[in-house]
Amino acid sequence: MALTPRQELYARHKSAGLCVACGGTRPEGSTRVQCDECLAKKRALRAKLIGERLCLNCRRPAYARRLGGRVLCATCRNTEKRNRYAKLSAGICQHCSRPVDPGKTACRVCLDRTRNYHRRTRTETETDT
Ligand SMILES: [Zn+2]
Ligand SMILES: [Zn+2]
Ligand SMILES: [Zn+2]
Repeated sequence: MALTPRQELYARHKSAGLCVACGGTRPEGSTRVQCDECLAKKRALRAKLIGERLCLNCRRPAYARRLGGRVLCATCRNTEKRNRYAKLSAGICQHCSRPVDPGKTACRVCLDRTRNYHRRTRTETETDT
């Protein structure tokens, strides 16, 4: 499966132990893929967008609040849903484009990661409706 330039850069930064967002250094031993600065920036932006009820994707006014405080406009919400179903029906992991485990909605790597993630924070729970 070919990677997009963005995914390639992400993978390169990640394997080099650099922040995937800015290419800067990450704190040693950090399990996160971004540096503290980028994480703080991302968090601040997210809080701001949620506060103003703007779509996290395109910054247009959002209409719905999802579990975990995710706010998306109708368009992005539909696009996300469509992509998700398209990948799912093609047997492709929606997170990383690897083949999914039989009977699962994501590949083993992402399933493991999600499980670890949820163990740490319960605020980001995604439920399929
Ligand atoms: Zn960074
Ligand atoms: Zn949007
Ligand atoms: Zn995956």
